[in-house]
Amino acid sequence: MNVYDSQRMTGILAPLGYELTAEPAEAALIILNTCHIRDKAAEKVYSELGRIRMLKNDSSATRPLIAVAGCVAQAEGEEILARAPAVDIVVGPQAYHRLPELIARATKTQRAAIDTEFPAIAKFDQLPQADATPSPGAAFLTVQEGCDRFCTFCVVPYTRGPEYSRPVASVVAEAERFAALGACEITLLGQNVNAYHGADEAGRNIGLGALIARVAAIAGIERVRYTTSHPADMTAELIAAHGAIPALMPFVHLPVQSGSDRVLKAMNRRHTADDYRRIVERLRGARADLALSSDFIVGFPGETDDDFEATLALVADIGFAQAYSFKYSARPGTPAADQPQVAEAVKSERLAALQGLLDRQQSAFNAASVGSTIDVLFERAGRRPGQVIGRSPHMQAVHVDGPATLIGRIARVRVVEGGANSIGGRLLDEVPA
Ligand code: SAH
Ligand code: SF4
Repeated sequence: MNVYDSQRMTGILAPLGYELTAEPAEAALIILNTCHIRDKAAEKVYSELGRIRMLKNDSSATRPLIAVAGCVAQAEGEEILARAPAVDIVVGPQAYHRLPELIARATKTQRAAIDTEFPAIAKFDQLPQADATPSPGAAFLTVQEGCDRFCTFCVVPYTRGPEYSRPVASVVAEAERFAALGACEITLLGQNVNAYHGADEAGRNIGLGALIARVAAIAGIERVRYTTSHPADMTAELIAAHGAIPALMPFVHLPVQSGSDRVLKAMNRRHTADDYRRIVERLRGARADLALSSDFIVGFPGETDDDFEATLALVADIGFAQAYSFKYSARPGTPAADQPQVAEAVKSERLAALQGLLDRQQSAFNAASVGSTIDVLFERAGRRPGQVIGRSPHMQAVHVDGPATLIGRIARVRVVEGGANSIGGRLLDEVPA
């Protein structure tokens, strides 16, 4: 979502004459687009600010304006200015359309400009559309932002604000534009993307399944994905879409967080571990080759050894193709932060055990792909010359020997090796060099 937002910010700054540079010393403006989800992510912002602050005193540099955007800006606006006086602009995720004004204000007054409002008008309708896709062939498209679920560990409802779904027509127009720019894959994004309920052209609210059908029908769009979804918002309509829409990729990132009903309740997740098992069963019933990924939190306040064992049992039952797991990080202002905390050493031990199991499942999933024939969307050059890297329908990184002309296109590949984090294949299609 931050990649998508950064792209929209680039779009609004282009008419003012700004272009991207990879060289901080050349920049007239540096925007840190930040994440507040865990303490580690938020702290990175201050170490990074310490580094780029040097550019302000460096006579060989352009003495850039420094802006902090994203959820750290939203949550810690004033604190950022106190801790890092070199910052000129603080802009929350709902105020990016006001960047030109903030830049003008900071330049003219030489005082920091800050905007962390949640305006009534959605930012998307105010920002110009992108003129490129972030990676060749693939594009992200935010369809829903914010969250009303208030899981007790999570800052998102506070930093991204209340749940908002973009109207269908504006999503479809943006997807058409990405297709015209060469995208064949679109990933629909939202903090809680399957809560999507945007209004269609007739003014009726439609769900994510129907939105996916609209996007999949656009000429040139061959792959649709969505992320991140909440188990309690997995509707029958969305599950059915997995069986009905071939372009909808057979891979769902469905965070479960814990396998213990007690912990799930304390997290305010509003479903049980068995509910999750049943949802997965129905998804696999709709599409047999569907693979899953998930997020896990270990060491949530009050989590016992038995609770953690229940998480391991759930993982063993489901079998994940990929997963992300984190130690619980107490976030100021969220309900769980005030509860008695699990010791750091216990969190580390549980994380290592969980990641061990998840890594074994990922390796087994990759090994099981060997011998199959898959479509790969190629994204970038590999580390070795003559190598290109892309994604399988199941989101595996795939490396093959082939020409750079493959990048941005889909080609058939025979999988010949499975590793821990990627698979290797041989090109089956004739590709013009
Ligand atoms: N909307 C998604 C998750 C968004 S946050 C959902 O409902 O599942 C992405 C992931 O960060 C979460 O799934 C969770 O695993 C992790 N996360 C969020 N807050 C956290 C915290 N306080 N400590 C540790 N991990 C956290
Ligand atoms: Fe955070 Fe996701 Fe829960 Fe919303 S549903 S509060 S984004 S974890």
